[in-house]
Amino acid sequence: MMASSGGPILVQKFGGTSLSDSARLSNCADRVAQAVGAGNRVIVVVSAMGRTTDQLVELAHSLGSDPDPRALDLLLATGELASTAMMTIALEKRGVQAVPLGGREAGIRTDQTHGRARILAIESTRLHDLMSSGVVPVVAGFQGVSPLGEVTTIGRGGSDTTAVALAAAVGAGESGGGCEIHTDVDGIHTADPRVIPKARRLSEIGSDEMLELAAVGAGVLQERAVVFARRFDVPLRVLHSQKPGPGTLVLRETSSMERNSVIGCALRRELGRVGISGLDMAIGGQAAIFMALADAGVMVDDIVQTDGDDGISLAFTVEHGELAEARDVVRSAIERLSPGDDSVGVDVEIGLAKISAVGSGMRSAIGVAGRMFEALSKAGIPILNITTSEIRISCLVPQDRGEEALEVVHDAFGLDRDPQDGPFLGLTDHDEA
Ligand code: ASP
Ligand code: MG
Repeated sequence: MMASSGGPILVQKFGGTSLSDSARLSNCADRVAQAVGAGNRVIVVVSAMGRTTDQLVELAHSLGSDPDPRALDLLLATGELASTAMMTIALEKRGVQAVPLGGREAGIRTDQTHGRARILAIESTRLHDLMSSGVVPVVAGFQGVSPLGEVTTIGRGGSDTTAVALAAAVGAGESGGGCEIHTDVDGIHTADPRVIPKARRLSEIGSDEMLELAAVGAGVLQERAVVFARRFDVPLRVLHSQKPGPGTLVLRETSSMERNSVIGCALRRELGRVGISGLDMAIGGQAAIFMALADAGVMVDDIVQTDGDDGISLAFTVEHGELAEARDVVRSAIERLSPGDDSVGVDVEIGLAKISAVGSGMRSAIGVAGRMFEALSKAGIPILNITTSEIRISCLVPQDRGEEALEVVHDAFGLDRDPQDGPFLGLTDHDEA
């Protein structure tokens, strides 16, 4: 079967779990054949099968504790290359003409930063030529070629970004198509359905909401892919690769999406907190401490500062895995600031989780924070810290109450109700209420 040479351009990306065995891979190939049959010009982007990338990373580290970044990238890129070959074979079997392309052959140019290269440009002539002759390009995700001609990878989970970048480069949106991410869930939900079975699939979500949810623990889409989709206006849809269904459309915000002030909630587990007390305001320790953390590559989450009689106190959260390092880095930064001074205390806490409610309608709604705090307090769940953005409210809670907190917040905002049935309680837009 020759693909249409003039229909909408659809980039279909298939993730590692969706390609983990030949039966799953075959289902994905059926999807592509269907889309081709329906008159789309399809570009396929594939991840490495199953846990391949993890296994290759482990293998490399078992051979050398600090593998050469060039060698590591070349090794990791093979996972996606194998998938392009297999997908091409499966498509040919279905009568779909296809050509496997590595990142280089697909024209994906990156900078030289091995392991987390940035895509600089996509030279799309080859892709357009293939599409106009009715052939489906099957592109290896997660990789590109550097100015020196070396294979680079663009960061873990990067195939989502490859797909969106390709869709932008070939003008998929303008052609009436877009980018589909085929994965192991049937879309974005009001909460993780494995924890909250009554969580609802959202038919659409704003890209700013998607970014906030991704940042606070909803691990469906790579954040960078959402940023790209937003920047280049690529219509993005998340779908289950094995079960038919409409999935979730990620859009730039539209006014009709503002009906419910909260659209979803998420739980981020395994957090710890570093507390610093008795810091002398005059020495301006904040810069020294957080520069030292940045130099050590520690990802710092919410930072809180409070003033007391004995100086200022600072607290920030990090992932459990980084807690010990964060504490040590803070201690040595303080030692450098005021050598021998033991009036500054540094302590750590583990076993924390962060529950967040997200929704762009919060910008104009009243009482969202109050409702969330009330629900948690009624359930007797202590709130250890609160942080907010324009469209997110997060509370730090004890990890052993985390799943309960997720359910309580999900209930408090009536997220299991379909907004088609009308807005939930008083939580509508300010001027509608
Ligand atoms: N295979 C790569 C990874 O596991 C890229 C991807 O799947 O998106 O990180
Ligand atoms: Mg992935």
